[in-house]
Amino acid sequence: MVRQTKIVATLGPATDREGALAGVLRAGVDVVRLNLSHGNHAEHRQRSAALRGAAQRHNRVVGLLCDLQGPKIRVGRFRDGIVELVEGQAFFLDPSLAKDAGTENGCGVGYAGLPQDVDPGDVLLLNDGLIRLRVDRVEGCRIFTVVEIGGTLSDHKGINQLGGGLSVRALTDKDHVDIQLAAELEADYLAVSFPKGADDIEEARELLRAAGGHAAIVAKIERREAVDNLSEIMEAADAVMIARGDLAVEIGDAELPGVQKRIMRLARERDCVVITATQMMQSMVNQPVPTRAEVLDVANAVLDGTDAVMLSEESAVGRFPARAVAAMARVCLGAERYAEESRPPRLGPEPRYTRIDETIAKTAIAAANQLSVRAIAAMTESGATAMWMSRISTDIPIYALSEQTRTLTKVTLYRGVHPINFDPAGRGDHTAANRGAVEELLGAGAIREGDLVLITQGDLAGVQGGTNTMKIVRVGDPIPDSA
Ligand code: PGA
Ligand code: MN
Repeated sequence: MVRQTKIVATLGPATDREGALAGVLRAGVDVVRLNLSHGNHAEHRQRSAALRGAAQRHNRVVGLLCDLQGPKIRVGRFRDGIVELVEGQAFFLDPSLAKDAGTENGCGVGYAGLPQDVDPGDVLLLNDGLIRLRVDRVEGCRIFTVVEIGGTLSDHKGINQLGGGLSVRALTDKDHVDIQLAAELEADYLAVSFPKGADDIEEARELLRAAGGHAAIVAKIERREAVDNLSEIMEAADAVMIARGDLAVEIGDAELPGVQKRIMRLARERDCVVITATQMMQSMVNQPVPTRAEVLDVANAVLDGTDAVMLSEESAVGRFPARAVAAMARVCLGAERYAEESRPPRLGPEPRYTRIDETIAKTAIAAANQLSVRAIAAMTESGATAMWMSRISTDIPIYALSEQTRTLTKVTLYRGVHPINFDPAGRGDHTAANRGAVEELLGAGAIREGDLVLITQGDLAGVQGGTNTMKIVRVGDPIPDSA
């Protein structure tokens, strides 16, 4: 069985270690993430170059995702680097305070608009929700709060508002600069942090295109407003990430499981690609094996139909990056073996296809499911045919055959889709292309004599959106010349 669910792993100091990146590749990573919240451009350039080199050496197609920092609001620094907050004490936040003047009485904050955004009674969460403050009153630009849950607070920890409602814009000045970098690195995916609606996604895409980038846009669902605007966001974006770290802080952890399932269902209905992210195997930052709860978490995301599962700290700063990828790969495969236990619709809810290529792609999977086809070969220019195919659930591997490097690296994120470098136009006519495709799959060990293969292609090779044909052939039978 070929693993369907894709693995995204975040690069960081842990993967900079000698041999670590190769280990991650060997363990089966499909897409790597550069987290632009950390590190500088020189480091990201180095990591991206290291990735390209390693992928080539290991003969692997790996996608690149650049993740923007976005408007994460952070506290300033503390005189002593760290303070201890106790339940019941008063604590203030003040954007006008000198950035390094924090004490146990209060500290600076990186967003000047925060005092206007909060009202008495609001809850602010610091340090990923570990510390909880309730707003008492606002005087000028100083927010006076009472500590409801205390703890250790150190420099630059993040702030979220329970229930959402912060007015801060999605794309910061730093994001504008980082978008240039994503274009330069020829990223396949650009993730937008903390978008509220479709406007933020469209703005990011325009900036990226203006910078010459071709990446598809991933909307990170991590604030209340994004959950309220899922439909328009999925319409505007190519993919969504269930960014459970910040999302859980904003909506409360008890809401998270239900919201994760809702996002997954809506994404499947709308042909939107989904990444499930954050703390999936958190204990593997320090331990060589995941907990049972983590195994179940990854498996449940797989059974609910996620395209990809993601590693953050586990691979970026953890002790066992390659083991974390290997553990995910093993658990995904294990869950896929039991897909029948909770299979999403095989043809989608009511089919409402509007395009020829989409119709061919989706009904091809329905046909393949009926007929015990061994493999699907989609000759695709842009990757769209493979994307549509992978929206319909099937155990049959989908091979995206393209001569476009960008298309090959893009399909790395799609569930059940495997890139193969192949130039149909270079083969001459359709018949030759079909024979070539069968040979490719034979060479890759994907099929054997006697197997059925389903092939899709367009009349005009090299044209995007041109898929209009599906053909089922038996391996070993002659493929007759086309009329
Ligand atoms: P981050 O996003 O890792 O950039 O914070 C993911 C999340 O919030 O879960
Ligand atoms: Mn986040």
